[in-house]
Amino acid sequence: MDLNDDQLLRYSRHILLNELGIDGQGRLCEGHALVVGMGGLGSPVALYLAASGVGRLTLCDADQVDLTNLQRQVIHDTSSVGRLKVESARSALARINPEVQVDTIAERVDGERLAALVCAADVVIDATDNFPTRHAINRACVKYRKPLVSGAGVRFDGQIAVFDARDAANPCYECLFPEADEVEETRCAVMGVFAPLVGIIGSMQAAEALKVLAGAGETLKGRLQLLDALTMSWRTVKLRKDPACAVCSKDPVEIEVGTGAATCTTPLHTS
Ligand SMILES: [Zn+2]
Repeated sequence: MDLNDDQLLRYSRHILLNELGIDGQGRLCEGHALVVGMGGLGSPVALYLAASGVGRLTLCDADQVDLTNLQRQVIHDTSSVGRLKVESARSALARINPEVQVDTIAERVDGERLAALVCAADVVIDATDNFPTRHAINRACVKYRKPLVSGAGVRFDGQIAVFDARDAANPCYECLFPEADEVEETRCAVMGVFAPLVGIIGSMQAAEALKVLAGAGETLKGRLQLLDALTMSWRTVKLRKDPACAVCSKDPVEIEVGTGAATCTTPLHTS
């Protein structure tokens, strides 16, 4: 992709990085990222991807901006309260970088709809806060072999990992958190969240997504990073593929993505 003079200036600090250069920036400008969830994690993800010139962003979130969101969902501001989050985000991104094409979907996507969105993207960022949607995103990413940048944050605890189904040897989200397991859902709607925690994790998700799109460096694939923001200490857990995984051990054509609206009743996003 040829960058024009304005783009060469706008992205000059990326282009100066040998690991990116003009070619890497060009790949960012041609890239398409799907961001599911436009809250605490999705905010820094969308801000950094747009500022970095990722050509096309598809933002999904069914919710409207609430006053309680503003403490950490930094893409939205006080004047956005009551607006759809995806519309509020689109306005903010247009101010930062009008070159970026921003598609908004104000729905709780799942099933085939979600699968089609995943299929159309080059990288998928899970910025949701509930397990049914996380698993639905993972199934679609494995089925269509799309790299998935997964993040989570509640209280002072954050985590981030990359699941890259382009390489069949890599583990998937289901390998780590089998859907059949009984898990206690800790929803941000009722939990405290330290504001910069989601900023830290979301910014890292943006970094991983940019590296995936540009083909630069080494991603967190196969590694889970756990953050305790109270002591600001990190732990790395090496992830293994589960040979009996209910998702990634299957032939991709046999992975069911669900048939639509009824499969997920949990709100897509409230973090
Ligand atoms: Zn798996």
